[in-house]
Amino acid sequence: MKTILVVGGAGYIGSHIVKMLLANNYQVVVLDNLSGGYRDAVLGGDFVFGDIADTKMLNYLFSGYNFDGVMHFASFIQVGESVINPSKYYQNNLTATLNLLDVMVAHQVNKFIFSSTAAIFGEPQYIPIDEKHSQQAINPYGFSKQIIEQVLADYELAYDLKSICLRYFNAAGADPDGQLGERHNPETHLIPLVLQAASGRREFITIYGQDYDTPDGSCIRDYIHINDLCQAHILGLEQLFAGGKSAVYNLGNGTGFSVKQVIEIAEKVTKKTIPITLGKRRAGDPSHLVADSKQAQSILNWQPQYADLETIIAHAWQWENNHFL
Ligand code: UDP
Repeated sequence: MKTILVVGGAGYIGSHIVKMLLANNYQVVVLDNLSGGYRDAVLGGDFVFGDIADTKMLNYLFSGYNFDGVMHFASFIQVGESVINPSKYYQNNLTATLNLLDVMVAHQVNKFIFSSTAAIFGEPQYIPIDEKHSQQAINPYGFSKQIIEQVLADYELAYDLKSICLRYFNAAGADPDGQLGERHNPETHLIPLVLQAASGRREFITIYGQDYDTPDGSCIRDYIHINDLCQAHILGLEQLFAGGKSAVYNLGNGTGFSVKQVIEIAEKVTKKTIPITLGKRRAGDPSHLVADSKQAQSILNWQPQYADLETIIAHAWQWENNHFL
């Protein structure tokens, strides 16, 4: 049985991964500082409370377990906040991540799965965005991830640290079994906010920007179901265990939906009228982000199971109803 350290395993994506790793017979150790995650979202494995900025703690942890691989989800993820408070993003997403990588190297743990992001691409030069697209992040969040991708390429050459970088487009939805879902505090992501407006936990949803260069003027994103995203991590891990090389993959469904279209589909799924207000553009938001995920499909053999947005929203709605109402 292989042992995987899941850093940030109490968060939205991390908690879904822990459930999937356990179902795939991995032994799991979660390390989380609970700054954004929840202890009760960790459905199994060992739990260690701690922060990757703490080198002593990391050395102790890596001496106590023989990790076969590390998955890293412990990042700050709000584009807008990263523009206002870049230090927070560079300290955690960059400096603390470097710390984790150095401890891995010191303990000869050489398989790493990294949560990267479509935000590394900046304003797209073409759509859909494939892996070869130039990287010009336009906000500190994206840039912190872009730098770590470069660090990983350098660490492979120098220290033989093998990695898979998964560039998420817009992770959304919830565990189809209803046990897990999105619980960011504060919540900033579109789909949970739209559903809060549908359930009445929020008065309205604000559409950020009406004058983007898109058919209806609102931003276009490619939403990917959390379980499909997690599946790609398991496949990436298996690829490394099978002796595969380091790689980067873009993960999305290849279809873009505008903010207004997301709200329309959410109204259909929830059978509620969702009150909206029109707001200004949010700093750091590119107009379109749509993935070309052919590499993940052909090399990882990744097949999304829940590609349609109605299903993604339906699972998030089930979570909103079960957990919050
Ligand atoms: N968005 C919006 N209103 C909100 C939250 C988000 O219009 O209250 C828009 C945001 O500008 C972006 C899209 O919805 O175009 C998705 O944003 P989200 O924060 O969910 O993910 P991101 O694309 O920033 O990773």
